[in-house]
Amino acid sequence: MNIGQCLTKSARIYPNNLAIAFGERRLSYAEFNGRVNRLANALHGREIRKGDNVAVLMHNCPEMLESMCAGFKAGCGVVPINFRLHPKEYASIIKHSEAKAVIVSPEFNEEIIKARNLFPCVTSVVTLSEACDHLLDYESILIGESDQFDDADVDAEDVAWIFYTSGTTGSPKGAMLTHRNLLSMTMNFYADMAPGFGSSDVALHAAPLSHGSGCYALPNIAKGAANVILESKSFDPETVLRVIQEHRVTNLFAAPTMIKRLIDSPAIDRYDLSSLKYLNYGGAPMLVEDLINAMEKLGPCLVQLYGQAESPMTITYLSHDDHVLDGDSDQMKRLASAGIPRTDVEVKVVDPDGNEVPPGETGEIVTRSDLVMKGYWRAPEATAEALRDGWLYTGDMGYMDERGYLFLMDRSKDMIISGGENIYPREIEEVIVGHPAVREVAVIGVPDPQWGEEIKAVVALVPGSTVTESELVDFCTEHIARYKKPRSVDFVDELPKNNYGKIVKQELREKYWEGRNSRVI
Ligand code: AMP
Repeated sequence: MNIGQCLTKSARIYPNNLAIAFGERRLSYAEFNGRVNRLANALHGREIRKGDNVAVLMHNCPEMLESMCAGFKAGCGVVPINFRLHPKEYASIIKHSEAKAVIVSPEFNEEIIKARNLFPCVTSVVTLSEACDHLLDYESILIGESDQFDDADVDAEDVAWIFYTSGTTGSPKGAMLTHRNLLSMTMNFYADMAPGFGSSDVALHAAPLSHGSGCYALPNIAKGAANVILESKSFDPETVLRVIQEHRVTNLFAAPTMIKRLIDSPAIDRYDLSSLKYLNYGGAPMLVEDLINAMEKLGPCLVQLYGQAESPMTITYLSHDDHVLDGDSDQMKRLASAGIPRTDVEVKVVDPDGNEVPPGETGEIVTRSDLVMKGYWRAPEATAEALRDGWLYTGDMGYMDERGYLFLMDRSKDMIISGGENIYPREIEEVIVGHPAVREVAVIGVPDPQWGEEIKAVVALVPGSTVTESELVDFCTEHIARYKKPRSVDFVDELPKNNYGKIVKQELREKYWEGRNSRVI
């Protein structure tokens, strides 16, 4: 089934249900579906057909969901792009994805026009502002189009979403998610994460729709539930609390750092949050101390998920029932875990030869299910490395206890997660090492009470050269997104290396993580 059919069906069953609220704007399911169909027809009229890719680069707004759904319905591969990326980074994703159409919000017009000749495959660029310089106006192209559309007849293995795991300037990797993957993701949301979820539920999107929150929109749409999209571009705890009260929000996906900011906000006691049934957190480790605090302040609504772009939304989950504070010692210990495999998901922990290890022993986490991506777009080698014998090698290390609860230990890929954003040290290192005064550099994640991890660069200078911390940080902001710049720089004479001359990051990280029970090494 085409995942876009979920919207077609909801519009028929619940035409008057609220589909989207955004500031003062309201769209019912009939209106939302009508606009999506018009857009799908408009794309079709511009020769964008089944199998083509459509990139979407917007701040959260109704048109973001419309564009994604229109792409699904048309049988296209939708490429939602993180709006926080640097222009060089999103340009490289648009180019790499071979998108035929790009739909943007106005703040990206200028950069897209500048980079236009980098995208030989792009035939149409649509913007939410008025048409200008070869950009089509979103509202104008809907005019005159039919609000009926025959959803493309797709194969379950056809690509519906290309989920870019990293916007590195070198070689971004796009996890190809099929219609089967997205349907499986949707169905299991009801089975494990939010039993009883239905058309009277109200979801709040406070995180980027290009990532986790966009995944959550699908189960909402499939059940005719409301999607409240925050207007503000940054996360403001008081706004979130107010909107939860105002719309009687039942369902929210938040990175652990967002939850921490909510519970630390002095405003939390001023709002009625009793409507919240499912507060899904994940995407990064949550300190047990913070989790206990959240449970005390927010009540029995927390559900943890562990997943990745290559197997979206969840591989394992820690259910409502596991979030209790009066359990036995084993139960309390499991609050530090990422929970159990989802009902339709297989998970194993394996040694470097791919053999399953006994409970309690650490190895790489591998998974097999209908959720696992088809592969990486135009990256056969990376695909062969990630998908072996039908299993996805997650790059995450961990162990399972006797009952099958998974404990994540560290990330073999060295990724840093700061404020819910994934940051890949390599690309920052590549920039810093380009500075003439720098001899070598390692970028690592160090603990930070607010962001989970913060980015630290450890640098050895060319003998006789000088450069200050702030000069190096400024140098980074000229080349990469601001959120990827190091928050601090330490200068050393020499970086620790192993026998092969490779920098030993584990050793570097040790001193910063010493004495912590949740550590990323
Ligand atoms: P992404 O592909 O952007 O969704 O990032 C996925 C990575 O985030 C995973 O491979 C894990 O390393 C990390 N991650 C996701 N969920 C959790 C969780 N519940 N606890 C700890 N780390 C997580």
